[in-house]
Amino acid sequence: MKAAVFYGPNQPLKVEEVPMPVIGAGEVLVKVAACGLCHTDIGYIDHGTPTFKKPPLILGHEISGTVFEVAPDVTTFKVGDRVLSPAVFACGECNPCREGRGNTCENMKMPGNDVDGGYAEYVKAPANNLFHLPDEIPLIEGAIIADAITTPFHAVKNRSGVKPGDKLLVFGCGGVGLNLVQIANAAGASVYAVDIMQLKLDKAKELGAVGTFNPKDYPDDKSFVKAVKKATGGAGVDIACEVIGNPKTLETAFNLVRNGGRLVIVGYPPSPMTLNASKVMYREMEVVGSLGCSLQDYPKAIEMVRNGKIQLVPMVTKRFSLDQINEGLDFLRSGEGIRSVVCP
Ligand code: NAD
Repeated sequence: MKAAVFYGPNQPLKVEEVPMPVIGAGEVLVKVAACGLCHTDIGYIDHGTPTFKKPPLILGHEISGTVFEVAPDVTTFKVGDRVLSPAVFACGECNPCREGRGNTCENMKMPGNDVDGGYAEYVKAPANNLFHLPDEIPLIEGAIIADAITTPFHAVKNRSGVKPGDKLLVFGCGGVGLNLVQIANAAGASVYAVDIMQLKLDKAKELGAVGTFNPKDYPDDKSFVKAVKKATGGAGVDIACEVIGNPKTLETAFNLVRNGGRLVIVGYPPSPMTLNASKVMYREMEVVGSLGCSLQDYPKAIEMVRNGKIQLVPMVTKRFSLDQINEGLDFLRSGEGIRSVVCP
């Protein structure tokens, strides 16, 4: 089969012939319809973030497709079924899995990180981690549910503590951040959005943001913080979600949370950073991380897409063929699109 293989940082993915995956007990072979291009892959390719499996590795963790083959012991799927493969496979047995927090599974396996992923014609997945995609959800655009929608779903529903009427500030309106805007809006929050690209801010408004801010419009961080505070009532926001992964914007987001409020870290900073712990103490702030989404929440996110509470199709900007994958990664680097997919 054809796949785009990662051989190491600072070099393009190599599109080449590789052996077809061989399924074992409990597994399903999926013919990939689409795989989302995610900033996390840029981390491996451009910033040297190590993958758990050493290269060569097929990247890609946002996968939709149709079932091509099932192991004899699999009864829940049949050839031809439309499926969504989650961004992380959970074991279902460790303590976090038993507590319903399989997104932090002790034995998690991420396609395109621990095992070969979806920038390929075929990928294998454990049947007990796969989801049926309803007919109303288009197969290609549906791929982005596996991360760009489930990640903000978990961040909003389980980690932000948002209540109707809360002021929630989203830093970074990319593939994940814009979906966070629409999910937080659906949860009844007054959503404010920050980005350095006007077209992302325009999209955030379309998706329900009541206010938008471009840090480039301000001479320095201090005046930016002052302006956002003024526009959001003076005290700071109830919740700030950082969805960029930049230590600098994480610090700014932290400074914009009101006393007793919460900072949710969704972005993946490539390097360690410091936060003022004494401010966490005397302002009684909460700083929480948010990773992916547990399997039990996938059906809820899929249902929000199916019934139109989450817009899906407009969130996919471009489609690339497998041969065009490096072009697709460049488009992701440019920041111009929301989410783009590779269609092998
Ligand atoms: P993206 O590139 O699509 O979006 C990033 C957005 O941030 C862009 O719109 C960009 O214009 C904006 N931005 C960049 N620098 C900025 C700045 N200084 N100020 C304001 N805005 C700025 O990326 P994405 O795919 O949405 O991913 C966002 C982050 O989330 C990445 O760090 C990624 O690794 C991480 N991520 C985390 C999880 C998780 O489970 N927590 C899952 C997926 C992605």
